[in-house]
Amino acid sequence: MQKIINYIDGNYCEPLSRKWLDNYNPATGEVYSTIANSNAKDIAKAYEAAKAAFPGWSNTSIEERSKILLKIATLIEKRLLPLAEAEARDNGKPLSLALAVDIPRASSNFRFFGNAITQFASEAHESIGLGTMNFTLRQPLGVVGCISPWNLPLYLFTWKIAPAIAAGNTVVAKPSEVTPMTAFLLGEICTEAGLPKGVLNIVHGTGPSAGQAIVAHPNIKAISFTGGTATGEHIARTAAPMFKKLSLELGGKNPNLIFADCDYDKMLAITVKSSFANQGQICLCGSRIFVEQSIYEKFKKDFITKVEQLKIGDPFDAKTDMGALVSKPHLEKVQSYIALAEKEGGKILSGGKPVKVAGFEKGYYLEPTIIEVYDDQCRVNQEEIFGPVVTIMPFTTEEEALQMANGVKYGLSATLWTADLNRTMRMSKKIEAGIVWVNTWLNRDLRTPFGGMKDSGVGREGGFEALRFFTEAKNVCIKYE
Ligand code: NAD
Repeated sequence: MQKIINYIDGNYCEPLSRKWLDNYNPATGEVYSTIANSNAKDIAKAYEAAKAAFPGWSNTSIEERSKILLKIATLIEKRLLPLAEAEARDNGKPLSLALAVDIPRASSNFRFFGNAITQFASEAHESIGLGTMNFTLRQPLGVVGCISPWNLPLYLFTWKIAPAIAAGNTVVAKPSEVTPMTAFLLGEICTEAGLPKGVLNIVHGTGPSAGQAIVAHPNIKAISFTGGTATGEHIARTAAPMFKKLSLELGGKNPNLIFADCDYDKMLAITVKSSFANQGQICLCGSRIFVEQSIYEKFKKDFITKVEQLKIGDPFDAKTDMGALVSKPHLEKVQSYIALAEKEGGKILSGGKPVKVAGFEKGYYLEPTIIEVYDDQCRVNQEEIFGPVVTIMPFTTEEEALQMANGVKYGLSATLWTADLNRTMRMSKKIEAGIVWVNTWLNRDLRTPFGGMKDSGVGREGGFEALRFFTEAKNVCIKYE
């Protein structure tokens, strides 16, 4: 059975404990590889490699760093098919999605930051009259930690690593133990691209062991984390007394606000995607759908019809729209929310049951589920489910829609469907979210700031924001005569 091992100091190596975790294929429910179950000793080893690499890497010219990042991007592109297959097998997502989104975006992350670093500049402030000249020196932080989740494995892993190394830091990174395969494959790509040894160290293992050791390491200067809100809170508590820089991209419960004046057909088609793409396991999925009363019944009928046409099955079948959920515990968690919805008085309008796919009977498949709720404060409408489950509810006024949209502890993204420009402006200013999409969804320009408000996180990634996060700003003030 294939072993997923650590990549430290440019070499693949077994965990010091020689302990292993099982890695499941969610489509079949079977173990297909084993994962290094690393602990604090492996993190210490990775840190030493990163520390040794830092002086060289931080003094490597911008041009050279950029060249290596662009080479990594090209190599990912060249391995599109094997990487996409590895992602689909590890995560349960349709291969078509990994081919169209996950792997191209992983490549774009390196390409984007490989280019962005050549344009990254800092300010100068001349104090006229005082005879001083100030400039801001932006220096890499040193060794930084990157920790990512399972839903968009290589996509989110590289979204952190690329800006960190572009800015001259060296990295200890841990992918999710649920989907470690593509991060494992990234090591050989980095070696082939000529990334000096120790610049990127990839350690596998669980959150409480390897992840916690990264956060608790006294000399790892910053943590860029994407994952659940409860984990983010724990990380903040561990890191705060050491005054580490933190970027936390956390959970969401995003509203999808549909007004009667929208382009109905476009809205309907995209709402199916924003609800169930990647089995609803995208932090940006619109899991709470609020529809203006005058079109509510029509929307309900049309939405159910479209959703029931989605094909659930083998991720490797080109006709599959929805693959398997990522793991058995996650499937059970999502199912528990469907049961809770019924207890809370919600009405299951469609779906709600596990699916037995012929030939894949032990896989973790679930029907796309639409639940009509009567109180936006009920638990299924308040807590992040992170699966193929959406709630729907009507509203009558813009104020009511806004109140419901903001009536959760999260604030990651929101989608607004309307043809009214004035409403677009009013609502965009008042919606509590890091991103507001209007008449579109998941449209991403990598130059824009990305992140959440409220319990959805702290800080922004993307564009120069990410490069600012991964650098220390130092004011140099020069007195001249
Ligand atoms: P998770 O919090 O369980 O795990 C995320 C990562 O953190 C994993 O690598 C895990 O091993 C590690 N981890 C767990 N405990 C840790 C600890 N004590 N110390 C250090 N690391 C630890 O999240 P998940 O289940 O993998 O992912 C799903 C969550 O991620 C959802 O809440 C989703 O909304 C969120 N998410 C957010 C964004 C965003 O950009 N805001 C993007 C994708 C996913």
